[in-house]
Formats: sequence, C-alpha cells, structure tokens
Amino acid sequence: MKRLELGIVPGAIGELPERMQAVVIRREREGDPRTAMQIEDVPVPEIGASEVLVLTMAAGVNFNGVWAARGKPVSVLKLTGEPYHIAGSDASGIVWKVGAEVRRWKPGDHVVLHCNQSCGQCGECNGLDPMACEQQKIWGYETSWGSFAQFTKVQAQQLLPKPAHLSWEEAASYGLTYFTAYRMLVDQALMKPGDNVLVWGAAGGLGVIAIQLCRLIGANAIAVIGSMAKEPLVREFGAVHVIDRSRFDLAAGPSKEFGKEIRRLTGGRDPDVVFEHVGRETFPTSVLVCKKFGTVVICGATSGYELNFDVRYLWMRQKTIAGSHFANAHQCERANRLVLEGKIKPVLDKVFPFARTAEAHQLMADNHHKGKMAIRIQASGS
Ligand code: NAP
Repeated sequence: MKRLELGIVPGAIGELPERMQAVVIRREREGDPRTAMQIEDVPVPEIGASEVLVLTMAAGVNFNGVWAARGKPVSVLKLTGEPYHIAGSDASGIVWKVGAEVRRWKPGDHVVLHCNQSCGQCGECNGLDPMACEQQKIWGYETSWGSFAQFTKVQAQQLLPKPAHLSWEEAASYGLTYFTAYRMLVDQALMKPGDNVLVWGAAGGLGVIAIQLCRLIGANAIAVIGSMAKEPLVREFGAVHVIDRSRFDLAAGPSKEFGKEIRRLTGGRDPDVVFEHVGRETFPTSVLVCKKFGTVVICGATSGYELNFDVRYLWMRQKTIAGSHFANAHQCERANRLVLEGKIKPVLDKVFPFARTAEAHQLMADNHHKGKMAIRIQASGS
C-alpha cells in the first residue's frame, strides 16, 4: 500500500504504507496553532521491541498541543531534538503492529492510550512510581510521534482497553485530563466523601472530569466557571455549587470576596481541597480560601507559572500545596475501569475532521471551547 486514505480501516490488519499524513510543528513556524500546525506527508515510524504502532482512529485535543505550537514556555523541538514535532497525547485506535517483546496486546485490539512514557528499567519505575523516572516524558508533548497522525508510536504499557460503548471520538477524548484529575484528587489530595472541593475551570477538560469524580466519591464540587452560560453543563456533571468568576477581580491578588462567596454557598465551610491548574491569576486566592490543614493540588498554570502568594496563609493554617503531573499506568488502569463501567463519562463537545486540527487548537488557545474536542482520523467521516 502506497498511501492510506483518511477515514478508512484497511482490510488487512498490519498492512502498512511507507508514509502517512501528520499534523506537523516546525521550529520556524512556532506560534499560534492556526499557523504552527500544518499537515505534511512523513514516514511511518519504526517501532522498537517493547513498542506498538497504533492506527489512530481519533485523537483528543489538549492544552499541551497549544504549548507545543507556541514553542512556549519551551520549544518541544529543543527537548526532542527531532526535525519536526507531531503533537497529540490522547488517542483511540487499533493495534497495528507490536514489537517482539509485547505480550499483553496483539494486532486488531481496540485501545485507548495513556500518555506517560518512562524507561521501565530503573528503581523508580519498578518500585516507586514511573512518574518519578528520570526519563519520564509525556508522549506527544515531550516526545514526537503523537496522535495527530494516521499512525502513532507508543510504549506497550500505554495501552488500555477501549470502552466498547464509546465512539472512537469519545474514547479519544478523556485520557489525559481524566487520568490527571484522578491522580490529583484520589492519590495526591486524598479526597474523601463529604469534602468540599473547589474546582477551577470546571467546564474545561480537567474540570468537567474533576466534578464527576467528586460526585462519584461523595464530595461536594464547588464549580468555578467564566460565565453562567456554562452552568447547565457543570450542574449536569455533578456541581453542587457554582461560582461565576467574572464577578470577582481575581487577577488583583487573593480575593476575600471570593472566599465569602464560597462560605455563603457552603454554609460557612471552606474547601478541604482546591483543584488548581490556572496558576498566576487564581493561585493566591486558592491558597487563601483553602481550609485549615487543607490541600491545594496543582498540575498546570494556564494564566502564568510564576506564582505570587501570601505564605502566611499557608504556614499559619498548615495547608499543603501538592504538585501533580499526569498519572502512572496503574492509576490510568484503575481510572479507565470507571469509564468501562460507565461511572465516568467523557464530555465531548465537538468533533473536527483531521484537516481542522489546527483550528481546534486555536479555539482552545482562545478559550472558546467547553469540555473536550476530538479529531477524527481513520474513523469514518474524516
Ligand atoms: P481547558 O479545557 O482549556 O480548561 C481550562 C479552564 O480554565 C477553561 O475552561 C477556563 O474556564 C479556565 N480558565 C482559563 N483562564 C482562566 C483564568 N485566567 N482564571 C480562571 N480560570 C481560567 O484546559 P484543561 O485541559 O482543563 O487544562 C488546564 C491546564 O492544566 C492547562 O494549562 C494544561 O496544560 C494543564 N494540564 C496539566 C496536566 C499535567 O499532567 N500536568 C494535565 C492536563 C492539563 P472558565 O473560563 O469557564 O473559567
């Protein structure tokens, strides 16, 4: 086969073209996603003994694609040393070829992918947590051969069973944000039934899953949104209280007014856990409003990563700041089980054809989206 058309699954599993279509970022055009991400014809990658080549049926859009396109805060091409970058850290697909040492999966299996890669050989990988491995990387961000291409190259440990009740696009949409939120709330913040949990960006990719996890565990999600137009969405997925952040001047520093609003809604209870990923504009308020002995768990900084907060609120009230980054394979497997059982639902807002991958990332960069967006690649209709 010379070339594989989009939107089809070849009859013979394992049959490979030499080249494939991929959304490619190059150093000289880093900037806005709409110009940085362009479709090119590139070679299909070779796989190693413990790797798998997956036919990408659909891919999920994440904020790291925006960072990769911008080349900021760091150029991923500098990290990878590759001549070009194929972004994409979420996918659903069909196992197309397996390396000689792969035992758990075979060509034809329907899978979703988690995005953590590590060496698999060090003490951290084998006793502590693969997230602690010195070679730990996020596939499709810190490595190339991500999911915005007809084929993607991954480590075998990244594969998880695809929930049969989900479409390819739904299945491609949840991994990165859901597994991140799961580790943050379940393993890092040790969220308990009855906790009050303040969720920033509750209608966004991470947030809409975080509020579902709160409901499942029996915690009360206090959902923060940028406009009340998003209220029905967050109520549907489990928000107990809703705050429109546009009523508060959060950028000016820790907002006592925001804290008063939380107490008004909760009957005087501060959040046991604050779910943070916005960074500069919200972090000072997060540290202020968190309950005594509570935890601010943070995995990102959309509005800026240099944080300025009043540390007296932290030490005098004995709060914890917990950093968190994606999840290990065991956490991903446990979390994926809840999707297989129908207890957690992906919230897919829009599906785009492959040719509009850059446009979907631009919508995210401009905060003109809600929930998740997916790109259809080999699934029919592309
Ligand atoms: P997203 O879908 O864009 O959602 C983020 C939400 O944050 C938006 O919906 C927006 O909601 C809110 N927001 C944006 N600017 C804000 C501001 N200035 N103040 C308060 N709220 C603001 O993105 P996501 O997929 O949830 O990811 C969020 C962040 O986490 C990104 O920076 C991403 O890189 C990071 N992340 C890190 C990891 C990790 O493993 N470390 C994993 C996933 C994501 P409203 O406008 O409705 O408030």
